[in-house]
Amino acid sequence: MDISEKRFLWQKAICEADFTLHNFPFGCGVLPNETAPRALSAFGYYALDLEQAYRLGLLGQDEKLEKVLGQPYLNNFIALGRSVAENVRDALQQNLSLENPSDPELSRKYPWMIPMDQVRMTLPVRVPNYTDFYSSLEHATNLGRMFRPGGEPLLPNWRHMPIGYHGRASSIVVSGTPIRRPWGQVMPEGAEKPVFSPTRLLDIELEFAFVVGQDTILGNPVPVDEAWDYIFGFVLFNDWSARDIQKWEYQPLGPFLGKNFGSTISPWIVTAGALEPFRTEGPTQEPEVLPYLRTQGPLNYDIELNVYLEAPNAEPALISVSNTRYLYWNAAQQLAHHTVNGCNIQVGDIYASGTISAPYRGGEGSLIELTQKGTAPITLPDGSLRRFLEDGDTIHFRGYASRGDVSLGFGLCSGQILQPLQLR
Ligand code: MN
Repeated sequence: MDISEKRFLWQKAICEADFTLHNFPFGCGVLPNETAPRALSAFGYYALDLEQAYRLGLLGQDEKLEKVLGQPYLNNFIALGRSVAENVRDALQQNLSLENPSDPELSRKYPWMIPMDQVRMTLPVRVPNYTDFYSSLEHATNLGRMFRPGGEPLLPNWRHMPIGYHGRASSIVVSGTPIRRPWGQVMPEGAEKPVFSPTRLLDIELEFAFVVGQDTILGNPVPVDEAWDYIFGFVLFNDWSARDIQKWEYQPLGPFLGKNFGSTISPWIVTAGALEPFRTEGPTQEPEVLPYLRTQGPLNYDIELNVYLEAPNAEPALISVSNTRYLYWNAAQQLAHHTVNGCNIQVGDIYASGTISAPYRGGEGSLIELTQKGTAPITLPDGSLRRFLEDGDTIHFRGYASRGDVSLGFGLCSGQILQPLQLR
């Protein structure tokens, strides 16, 4: 079997494990013989044409729903409210309850089910705003040790609020979009002047992000105990980072060109409803947080995260295993903090967690941590070494949850690195 056949079977098996009868995530994609994207769901290795399913009477009767299913982004669908999306999931579940997602005959039986290799996935939402948090204690500690050796790894504010910065929405791309190695200013070790060069320290950040489901009005904070109602669902998120550019530019205002050349999201939004069975308690927060950030109950998720590095002409190699449960700050706290000053949010906004590193070796969510700043390179199965990404490398994230007989996943969040432009 050649490598592309193997890759196809690997991706198909992941879809069949992830897009179960419990899941029914939402995305957008272009169907064969069409030019514009439309709303889709997924079951096994099939994309479900929701507009066609609606016309066949399978999704009930709702004029507002009918109007939005043919649109190229999910924003208007999401704005109808979480209950509309959950009704669609229920209807799909009932219609397909006797089917096996691995059945190769499904698209013959149901003309609104299209094998995924015939569908080009596109961005699920038009993203009005994107914010990136820094909510993993382990990641913040690891980076603090590297960037400020000898000092306290955590800055004094870190345990009191979810630290974040405003990212760039325009360069968020869907899984499968190549990422070109960016150029920028870097300050080489010991040099007196910066140089202009393609980044040599191209990295990943393993993140989990939520998609906002309701607008708010400027001036109106979202209270922490209502924040959950504003979250439509979740995606995997790769915040590609150029560490040498980042290191030279980040003081005093934070990340800029080291981050905004591209961020990749998984194409399928898994709804908050589908993720209910996987809720779990987060880490104990010490010292106690201010009242506007206090939450109760299980507001983290138990979702295993895998990072694969696929070198050119090689099979994907597993290089990290983490879990969303390690996030110190939960999504409700992130949203409450983000809006406590009155900042408004919009349907389709993306709020990413920050790199999720586990509290053990082999669970770090970035290469700079995995390879300890490049001093401890990773050995790939073919014997080659990696400190940071090389041209032609592909990174795949996977997220998967299982409890009792219920399981689901996010599909892959992938991107390949292209060689830099020819600049001077
Ligand atoms: Mn990040």
